[in-house]
Amino acid sequence: MSDPLFERDTAPAALDLVARAAAPFLGSLTDRPVHDHAADHLMDLLDGPLPEEGEGTLAAIEELLAVGTGASTQTSGPRFFHFIVGGATPAAQAGDWVTSLLDQASGLHLTSPLAARAEKVALDWLKDLCGLPEPYGGVLTPSATFANLTGLTCARQWWGERHGADITSQGLAGLPRMPVVASGYIHPSSRKALQILGVGRDGVTVCARDDAGRVDLEAMERTLSELDGPAVIVGNAGEVNAGDFDPIADLADLAERYGAWLHVDGAFGLFAAASPRLRHLVSGVERAHSVAADGHKWLNVPYESGFAFVHDQDLMFRSFGAWGAHYLPADVNYNNLGPESSRRARAFPIWATLRAYGRQGYAQLVDRHHDLALRLGEAVEKAPDLELLAPVTLCVVCFRYAPRGVAEGELNELNRRIGEELIADGRYYAGTTTYRGMTALRPAIVNWRTTEEDIDGLVEVLREVIARVHPGS
Ligand SMILES: *Cc1c(COP(=O)(O)O)cnc(C)c1O
Repeated sequence: MSDPLFERDTAPAALDLVARAAAPFLGSLTDRPVHDHAADHLMDLLDGPLPEEGEGTLAAIEELLAVGTGASTQTSGPRFFHFIVGGATPAAQAGDWVTSLLDQASGLHLTSPLAARAEKVALDWLKDLCGLPEPYGGVLTPSATFANLTGLTCARQWWGERHGADITSQGLAGLPRMPVVASGYIHPSSRKALQILGVGRDGVTVCARDDAGRVDLEAMERTLSELDGPAVIVGNAGEVNAGDFDPIADLADLAERYGAWLHVDGAFGLFAAASPRLRHLVSGVERAHSVAADGHKWLNVPYESGFAFVHDQDLMFRSFGAWGAHYLPADVNYNNLGPESSRRARAFPIWATLRAYGRQGYAQLVDRHHDLALRLGEAVEKAPDLELLAPVTLCVVCFRYAPRGVAEGELNELNRRIGEELIADGRYYAGTTTYRGMTALRPAIVNWRTTEEDIDGLVEVLREVIARVHPGS
């Protein structure tokens, strides 16, 4: 039973098992709890020593499905509002299966002209959807963190070249620290990229004018004007606590005036560009030198999906190209444009979902989520014991429980316990964050399945949870 060669004919039957599990699993996403702790024991079935003799294809896949469909957390269902986690549209999910079925080695044009062509088309469509001009180079990445790493690596190469150094080949020796400025909205993911790049995650000069982190443009201008050489500005299109935006056009003006590089982290917020009524939020992004975003958030493509755009495609090649490689835009090797080498055909699910729903479908999805966020914001404002902490800009609603008669000093602990109890309850997930020193709930609405019913249900369950945590309220 051990050598897979003897099981070569079982592959269709194994895939069929997965396909047959799809209907009941997906059907349950809308009414199962986000997490059913009673099923946690199923995970024990994963344990045990490495089998000496394998159990065979079908037995292994049956087991994995039994554990997986029972013990998984329904982050891709309509009631998971913690962090910023998208679902998978029907076309994206099936497209992802196609990626596995075809198993293309998608780093080199030679090993899969098909994957390379699909990646080019997917990137062109994403640029179009997100309002980025055609000349931008792009690459698909596993996540926005890798996309931030891609954009900031190009920034670092550009910065090195301005100092007469080729960092790709010679490293950072002898160079000063690359200056990086940002508002207080900068995400840990950009800092992680900077820590990998030798700038240091604490090497960012934060120019904020309040404790929410809103940009202080004058302080940023002063910082840039006092520097000797070029700098990198990290702009944030969509911050995670309240969904607010840096004024990207103002940052682009500063970048122009001081010869700086503008990198925009638009992990989820970039998709505001898909909506005519919301695209003003990202205006100016078309002037950025590099842009990062996620496919596995608002595009609702399965994990792992991200993408980076860099205005100067040749700089991507200078930052990531292999020794002696030649840049051939006609049959591009995408492993020369980003941090990965071997990679899966990440383009197929993106291609499938954009082909399936188009510009209009995504405009509707983004608008619907904005409407749902406004609906939740109104419910919060109507409730005398709930306090909306920031205006609803896009898809995040930041608020806390603050009943009359409870001292300010006790509210953080109370809200922390509410957040904890909500997750323990399991029907809805929304986590807490610290916003301007306050512990707050901040549900983020980016799943294509989410409807008004789910938003109203969240408010109802929150009421039950509050009654349990703060009885007599
Ligand atoms: C989620 C997020 C990231 C990181 O994305 P990953 O896909 O988790 O790597 C970066 N920036 C912002 C603003 C985000 O919301």
